[in-house]
Amino acid sequence: MAVQHDSTGAGQARTDRFLLSLGRLLDDAGLIVESDVLARYSCDWTGKDRCSPLAVARPKTVDELSRVLAYCHEHSWPVTVQGGLTGLCGGATPRSGEVALSLERLAAIEEFDANADCMTVQAGVTLARVQEIALQQGMSFPLDLASRGSCTIGGNIATNAGGNRVLRYGTARNLVLGLEAVLADGRVLTSLGTVIKDNAGFDLKHYFIGTEGTLGVVTRAALRLYPEPADRLTVLASTTSFSQLRGLLATLRRRLGNRLVAFEAMWDSYFECVLTTLGLTRPFANGYSHYALAEVELLEPEHDRRSVERVLSDCLEKGEIGDAVMSASCADATRLWQFRESAGEMLSRLAPAVGHDVSLPMAKMDVYVETVRARFERELPGGVCVAFGHLGDGNLHFLTALRTAEDAEALDSIVYGELPAGGSISAEHGIGVSKKNWLKVSRTQTEIDLMRGLKAHFDPRAILNRGRVV
Ligand SMILES: Cc1cc2nc3c(=O)[nH]c(=O)nc-3n(C[C@H](O)[C@H](O)[C@H](O)COP(=O)(O)OP(=O)(O)OC[C@H]3O[C@@H](n4cnc5c(N)ncnc54)[C@H](O)[C@@H]3O)c2cc1C
Repeated sequence: MAVQHDSTGAGQARTDRFLLSLGRLLDDAGLIVESDVLARYSCDWTGKDRCSPLAVARPKTVDELSRVLAYCHEHSWPVTVQGGLTGLCGGATPRSGEVALSLERLAAIEEFDANADCMTVQAGVTLARVQEIALQQGMSFPLDLASRGSCTIGGNIATNAGGNRVLRYGTARNLVLGLEAVLADGRVLTSLGTVIKDNAGFDLKHYFIGTEGTLGVVTRAALRLYPEPADRLTVLASTTSFSQLRGLLATLRRRLGNRLVAFEAMWDSYFECVLTTLGLTRPFANGYSHYALAEVELLEPEHDRRSVERVLSDCLEKGEIGDAVMSASCADATRLWQFRESAGEMLSRLAPAVGHDVSLPMAKMDVYVETVRARFERELPGGVCVAFGHLGDGNLHFLTALRTAEDAEALDSIVYGELPAGGSISAEHGIGVSKKNWLKVSRTQTEIDLMRGLKAHFDPRAILNRGRVV
């Protein structure tokens, strides 16, 4: 395999020649080499392992992007693919000598097709922009994450992002009708069909969904839209046990059906931490052991609102929940969502802090959380470990403020080591670099070997996100 770059005179001359030729493949604003600007592309949202790339290539067209990759492939030069850099496991963080390939200038909305309930966009567009354009047309793109203002559709697809409404609409995989990807050697694979049923041979788009940019660079996507409901309602409810929380989810599902689109769980440790760290106003007079934030889509607002009220008052009467509050306006809903969506901000204020996102069968969740917390307090005292998650999908997050950054590895051993059978070390954020050593907890050796085989087939010179995932 050819050399990446070295610091000898000859190595530097080769690097200079490489960059000069790379720059010629792009327009004037297409290649960044100035060190002060490169710093912006030096790590993902975690801020960990910061490392400025050798240069940033910012193609403005798919053709330019294809030529950049063909050239890097020819020279076996490693490339880090970057979207909005909101990833949480180091996948988009460059390593020394790598060229960062940013999708930020490939951010157009190309087509809105109301007849096919579909929108075709370039991969660098932010999720918030896609949601906004869909809404302007009376439609909804239901993927929704707290990082919506910065994360890109390409990043969402590459990580098979989940988020708040997976319960009803599934992950990014369920919302991609077709896509275009550029392979490591620069070949463009365009598969932008918009029909839902298409069984003509292999459905190749899935190779690029959730594979974290290791098999190709997503450049365009045809996204599936749904009608925007007449209104939305947010409920914050509290319970005195985890089993009550599960019971509330079951009741809401049974009585509201598909209108229930989100059900987020927060353990008291999380809730108290978010209240104090961010100075939010306590919503209930009493404290409870668990809290749920639910979102309901209202098709007939008055009627559906009354249905939700009836369900909640029945639960209150039977003592199945402790307290509940319903949003009366958009501002109210935003205020209630703050309790859940401030998790990212809380993480950034709790340094040294780490986040984990695992999934496991709901029936095992309570015991798992208590086991992790007990071991954390016993083995790594002096920190704070709080739990919350997208309960409807069996997705659990831990946010942990450590006494010292050196405890991070021991914490991983507790969180991943205690996972019961059927659990996953990554519910949604992916593997990237930070979870690579733990992949064997969730995948068999046969699965890992097959992943490595696919990587070698798609990217024989391992230029794309080298060393990530497998
Ligand atoms: C506050 C906060 C809340 C979050 N909530 C959620 C959540 O609820 N659910 C969830 O799933 N995630 C969540 N995340 C994680 C993150 O937002 C998602 O993983 C998101 O999909 C990443 O998109 P991005 O554009 O920022 O990708 P980046 O961070 O830039 O990249 C992530 C990975 O995708 C690759 N990649 C990026 N673009 C492309 C492309 N065009 N083609 C191929 N590969 C590419 C990168 O190489 C990297 O491996 C959250 C993050 C934050 C900070």
